[in-house]
Amino acid sequence: MKKGRLKNTKPKKGMFVKRKDVPCGNNSSGFIKYDGILPKGHPKFKSRDDFTSFRYKQHGNGWNLDGNWLYLSKITGKSNPIKIDIDNLPDGELKTCTLKKEGKQWFVYLTVELPENPTPSTPTNAVGIDLGLKSFITTSDDDFVEPPRFLRKAEKRLAKEQRKLSKMEFRSKNYQKQKQKVNRIHRKVASARNHFSHCLSKLLVEKYDLVVFEDLKIKNLIKNNRLAKSISDVGWNKLVQHVTYKAAERGKIVDKVNPNYTSQVCSHCGRKKKEKLKLEDRTFYCSNCGLEIDRDLNAAINILTKSSYYNPKWHTVGLAGINGCGYGTSTSGLGISSQVPSMNQQMLNLVIG
Ligand SMILES: [Zn+2]
Repeated sequence: MKKGRLKNTKPKKGMFVKRKDVPCGNNSSGFIKYDGILPKGHPKFKSRDDFTSFRYKQHGNGWNLDGNWLYLSKITGKSNPIKIDIDNLPDGELKTCTLKKEGKQWFVYLTVELPENPTPSTPTNAVGIDLGLKSFITTSDDDFVEPPRFLRKAEKRLAKEQRKLSKMEFRSKNYQKQKQKVNRIHRKVASARNHFSHCLSKLLVEKYDLVVFEDLKIKNLIKNNRLAKSISDVGWNKLVQHVTYKAAERGKIVDKVNPNYTSQVCSHCGRKKKEKLKLEDRTFYCSNCGLEIDRDLNAAINILTKSSYYNPKWHTVGLAGINGCGYGTSTSGLGISSQVPSMNQQMLNLVIG
């Protein structure tokens, strides 16, 4: 494309321009008079890098899947299908198939129409989840999962490579190479984060009928420390999303509650502290009933009891522990804290390798 040509594509007032959202039938020409406002469908500049994917719209018509073998019309023919790696393709009707080039690799995106979700049954056990910084999550059963540090490492590296990229001459050979490198880290970070989130959400949904989170939109409004931004936000959002859809598939419930005061209220007697806990305060101490408890656990229990689905008859492990001796000292929760570290190691390898 010659330089300056794009400028000329801008229509002059009074000119007739074609708009893409008007179908060109016999009666309508599809042209409208330009009055100074650009209509939809005005030609936009598309980088050559934008054209890296294409889609087959209907299963059985152009594309087919047989086990791990993918047949694509005009590309593979019937005798030489492509072998693809699929894990966990859900049962359902196959719809579209999109091929996308990311870096040097090609990826296949399949869409599947799922059968309708079962209606949720009355929950018999439940968990409240505090999303935090010291622990990525703390459950009301006194389980916690460390924040995925491998992501921090990878993000640091990503930032470094991105800085390098920004100093290079746009579209030069080195720029292209560096861009590939950055994209590769991006993909690895994304897939590691996905993997972590999928594992954790699966554990939670399999164990509990009702999972109660803080409403993240409100949480983000009320928190005021810069630390909380960035990585954790992305991770929490992903986790909540994953838990929500996994729960829906299994007929379980996810509830979101307003996180206001969950860290200031005593989970035992319900008395609200006047002052906010400082960031470095790890323990919640109630002067009214003498409860001394981990602050995240206290918040997690408050989150659970705030839910409209909450039934006081439930004896979750964390709550029972508190009622018994005043401490949430149970160790027999979900056991996720013991299951997740091995995952971390796995993902660390994924990022480094
Ligand atoms: Zn109290």
